[in-house]
Amino acid sequence: MGKSRSKLQNEGATAALIELELQRRLQAWVTLTTAALALNATLDPETTLEAALSAVRQVTDCQQAALFDLDATGEALTLRLAYGLDPDRLRRAQHLTLEPHRRQALTQGWSIAIGDLEAEADVPSWLEAVLPAGCRAVVSLPLVVPQQAMGCLVAFFSEPHLWTDFDRTLWRILADQAAVTISNARLRAGLLHERDLVHVVAGGMSEGLVVADLQGQVVMVNQAARQMLGIEVGQRWEFQPSISERARRAEALLATPGPWLILEKKDRLMNVSIMRLPGGQASDLATVYVVRDITRWVELDELKTDFISQVSHELRTPLATIKTLVGLLKKERVPQEAAREFLAIIESEVDRQTQLVNDLLEVGRLESGEVSWTVVEIVPTEVAEKAIRACLPLASEKGVSLVGSPLPILPRVMGTPRRLQEALTNLLVNAVKYTPAGGLVSVTAGCDDQVVWLAVRDTGPGIAETDLPHIFEKFYRARQTRGNHQGVGLGLTIAWQVVRAMHGTIEVQSQVGEGSCFTVRLPRARTFVAAMRETFEGAQDECADPVDR
Ligand code: ADP
Repeated sequence: MGKSRSKLQNEGATAALIELELQRRLQAWVTLTTAALALNATLDPETTLEAALSAVRQVTDCQQAALFDLDATGEALTLRLAYGLDPDRLRRAQHLTLEPHRRQALTQGWSIAIGDLEAEADVPSWLEAVLPAGCRAVVSLPLVVPQQAMGCLVAFFSEPHLWTDFDRTLWRILADQAAVTISNARLRAGLLHERDLVHVVAGGMSEGLVVADLQGQVVMVNQAARQMLGIEVGQRWEFQPSISERARRAEALLATPGPWLILEKKDRLMNVSIMRLPGGQASDLATVYVVRDITRWVELDELKTDFISQVSHELRTPLATIKTLVGLLKKERVPQEAAREFLAIIESEVDRQTQLVNDLLEVGRLESGEVSWTVVEIVPTEVAEKAIRACLPLASEKGVSLVGSPLPILPRVMGTPRRLQEALTNLLVNAVKYTPAGGLVSVTAGCDDQVVWLAVRDTGPGIAETDLPHIFEKFYRARQTRGNHQGVGLGLTIAWQVVRAMHGTIEVQSQVGEGSCFTVRLPRARTFVAAMRETFEGAQDECADPVDR
């Protein structure tokens, strides 16, 4: 029996409706998938927010939309992004306090969907505050990831709506997807920020920092480590702890809890602290090394030890001589000639000791600024010639030629003559002391518009490049000359302090095996006075120009 015509028509209409609904749902899925893809396309925090807002507009087909952040206290919402909202609503949406039960609903992930605002009495007050004019329906989708509510996405409609469960499911999927993407983007931004922070901190460290993976391959290295060790990311870093005498000495000095070891590279000594990263096999990063250059520290310790033994030696040797000679003078009938000779030796030894003690005291006073300087005009030629004359006996005793006198006539400088002579004598004594017999020490002098210069040149052993930056430091003695010559490393410090107080400089040029040249430069008296005038305002009237030869 065939179906009636009207029944057939009804079935046809139902099938058409079902097809329409299926098409609508298919379209909705396509829209959701497209929106989800757009959301996943970025991990930049700001772009993910824009993508979430745009996705909610596509999926709900609303007229206005907004994205709110839940603040850290979880008690208020703040507008982050809006589409189509008027300025008044935007202003109101800056801080929306949530009632406690709404807060709870949001954190539990409950959405709000009001199909007709005119028929609905229970509109949350925070939502009411931002409803655009003429809004008839609204949907709020909480953005929640496990353990954390982040805010909500809100869609506003100007017509009443009747939403199906299917619509609500779509929105739920969309909101969850958006929440995960935003949360991931924020996590990633946090990680990137921390990574940048680590790079900035590591870059600014004076210590070297090396991170290596389980295979010993470098995955991070800062600038200091690059310079100290010459390694780069990607390289394997294998090193042997040093067992040299210096390394053992450094080890004894450090005496801090480990794990660490001493590494020697060229002439540098390094202390390498080693930290194994927790995570062991699971972590790609296995070890962090912090590298400190301790060369200078070990050298200072060596200097301290040398200084103590040198000063003790310098004090004890003459004392022994004096004691022996006094004993002889007391006990035996010493011929007058010999007694006079003994007394001369005793006097010279006492002078030497006095000089040493004076130098020690002098450095302390110069450094602390306790020395009072009587500044007068100095004829540098005269002072330099006095210093040369004072050193001639030492040079001839040593078999070194000391030449220079007479020096050219030089313009005057300002300072204390006795101090300048002391500085020049120290340079000359060094030149003679370190130059072997048969060598030559020469003094030359000259001037230009601004300065007067005096140079002491010798044909001694020269000074190694590594020692040059330190020789004016207190108690510093170059390794090469340390064992063979008397001295405590104060002569150059005193010379430098004196010349600096006269606003001058000392420069040294040296070649190992060829000799050294120390050049003192002092401002001419008129340059000195002009500089003083600039420094002390108003001094012009009191200070008459010195005569400048
Ligand atoms: P000291 O001579 O008592 O050791 P100084 O302060 O005068 O101390 O000099 C510091 C160091 O500089 C010396 O120990 C020496 O190593 C080096 N030095 C100074 N002058 C010369 C020179 N003319 N030639 C070679 N080395 C020098």
